[in-house]
Amino acid sequence: MKKKELLGLFPQELAEELRPLGLPAFRSAQIFQWLHRGAGFADMTNLPKALRTQLEESFVDQPVSILEKRVSKLDGTVKMLYALRDGNCVEGVLMRYHYGYTLCLSTQVGCRMGCAFCASTLGGCVRSLSAAEMLGQIHCANTLAEEHVSNLVLMGSGEPFDNYDEVVRFLRLVSCEEGLHIGLRHISLSTCGLVPQMRRFAEEGLPVTLSLSLHAPNDVIRRRLMPVARAYSMDEVLDACRYYIEKTGRRVIFEYALNEMNSAPEHAAELAGRLRGMQCHVNVIPLNTVAENAIQGVNEAVVTRFMQELEKRHISVTRRREMGDDIDGACGQLRRHYLEEQ
Ligand code: SAH
Repeated sequence: MKKKELLGLFPQELAEELRPLGLPAFRSAQIFQWLHRGAGFADMTNLPKALRTQLEESFVDQPVSILEKRVSKLDGTVKMLYALRDGNCVEGVLMRYHYGYTLCLSTQVGCRMGCAFCASTLGGCVRSLSAAEMLGQIHCANTLAEEHVSNLVLMGSGEPFDNYDEVVRFLRLVSCEEGLHIGLRHISLSTCGLVPQMRRFAEEGLPVTLSLSLHAPNDVIRRRLMPVARAYSMDEVLDACRYYIEKTGRRVIFEYALNEMNSAPEHAAELAGRLRGMQCHVNVIPLNTVAENAIQGVNEAVVTRFMQELEKRHISVTRRREMGDDIDGACGQLRRHYLEEQ
């Protein structure tokens, strides 16, 4: 029988799951706390030994482990390859900023969104991760950092809204008081723009920062870069963003990876027109080249000019710092290549 993961359960559900063991009521709260501090059953020293063995036999404690890590010589960024229990792997990136550690989390093994410039989607989507597996990535990263991870970005492999229920469960668990208690305002979720889920998410009462991968000033260019743009027009996506802003009071961040197709000054002008009046911010990033696709990034002069054109039109814009470039840890470079190389 497949062992059940306890880490993805809410306190009530955990108590329910453990009920057949006939434990005193406080035990399940103790177990919840241990699990969410990253402990395994063997480490739960305030539980009777027999109970620890019993738990070990029927349940999974920490579902993720680190298989490999690479540290950037440029900025200390760590890229990790995590092993999942079924033999699959996902990648993650731990970045150190002046305010603490930020972890880039994966939500699926691979991705089925098919963006033309991204490495994560090259082999399609193998499966979605469970909430427990998302929490497990943080526990792994916490063993490497001197202080615990304080900020999260759901920007690793996978499309978070293609795994909606487990991502929402994860967000509630990671922010709860008895758990890691990471503030929702310290979490960014990035989506390629699945409109129905964006609208539904606006109503969850989860005030995370929503990042929208826009990457184009119009539908023609966006459709060339992102298949999802054939399902939802830019107008629909931007309307869903306005709805999110209205419901949560939070600004939306637009991600824009500059490449040969979307980076001319006229594109900046067109983009500014589309975003006028919105409570938003644009994060530009020079596209990181992925060997398997032919899309090229742009040079510094193009990035600077593009940003100036937006600023001139009063659009708030920054350039995203690129970290871990020497270890293939930069945006769009995460992939599930480990198994393929074996
Ligand atoms: N599925 C989510 C999260 C994916 S990755 C989404 O689409 O938003 C996070 C960001 O990295 C996205 O904005 C994605 O478009 C961007 N990205 C992917 N490949 C990239 C590349 N080669 N260079 C720069 N950014 C890239």
